[in-house]
Amino acid sequence: MAEQGILYIVPTPIGNLGDITERAIKTLTEVAAIAAEDTRHTRKLMQHYGIQNEVFALHEHNETQRADAVIERLQQGDSLALVSDAGTPLINDPGYVLVHRCHQQGLNVIALPGACAVTVALSAAGLPTDRFAFEGFLPAKPQQRRAKLEQLQSETRTVVVYESPHRILHTLADMDITLGKERNVVLARELTKQFETYLSGNAAELLQRLTDDKNQQRGEMVLLIAPLQPEIEAHTGPGEATKRTLLLLLDELPLKKAAALTAKIHDERKNRLYQWALENKNSQ
Ligand code: SAM
Repeated sequence: MAEQGILYIVPTPIGNLGDITERAIKTLTEVAAIAAEDTRHTRKLMQHYGIQNEVFALHEHNETQRADAVIERLQQGDSLALVSDAGTPLINDPGYVLVHRCHQQGLNVIALPGACAVTVALSAAGLPTDRFAFEGFLPAKPQQRRAKLEQLQSETRTVVVYESPHRILHTLADMDITLGKERNVVLARELTKQFETYLSGNAAELLQRLTDDKNQQRGEMVLLIAPLQPEIEAHTGPGEATKRTLLLLLDELPLKKAAALTAKIHDERKNRLYQWALENKNSQ
């Protein structure tokens, strides 16, 4: 039986064409073929680096169906590379289905290190990096987005989210409501490109900056939310939706039970809600 091929996960630049490794170019040249999110986009990139190779499409709409053919090829001994339009495949890009199936089939998957907007933004944003949470894109629907931000309100790690220029103003407005004025947010825009910018402040301040300068609303962007500090936590109390639930339940239940149920519903800490209810139940 022929030796099985390897699936290489190959990152490509997120803007600056200099951000590709020698190893990535060598791999893309030497594999039997390249699976690409958008073949036209990848061919242009290959032309720039002087790479000639077969390219076929593997994107979110055909990944499940294509994965079988890719696996068959790997089993027959062809090594293949997976690339997305920009940055690291699988990071908010196609590839998970294929990689998962490769593992199920005992096929070897090797990932090359390279450009990724999450790590670039984190490295320079000036927020804690020892632990962080990546949330991909926030929900597009306002109600769901606010609910997600309510959850993130008590997050004690730096939170990284991808954002689109169409939604940035709405998201910042929602962040102002849910995270308040004490919480620092960083907007990392156009990373590795000519107009690379980092803006830092609370959500209301960033919203003002972007409203004053429409150029700051353009391009590709990452938002980072500073971790909740215990002293800020005590000061700000739970989010608005959490407080509403707690106050409603307090009309019907003893304080301890109301705090416990609200904690479950909103994924909050019970003691924090208990404390808040003790301090506020008579003044609301
Ligand atoms: N796989 C990619 C990676 O490794 O970063 C991410 C793909 S995701 C579909 C695209 C999103 O990543 C953009 O909408 C933006 O939020 C973020 N992004 C990609 N390139 C960026 C850049 N140069 N500057 C800021 N954000 C970027």
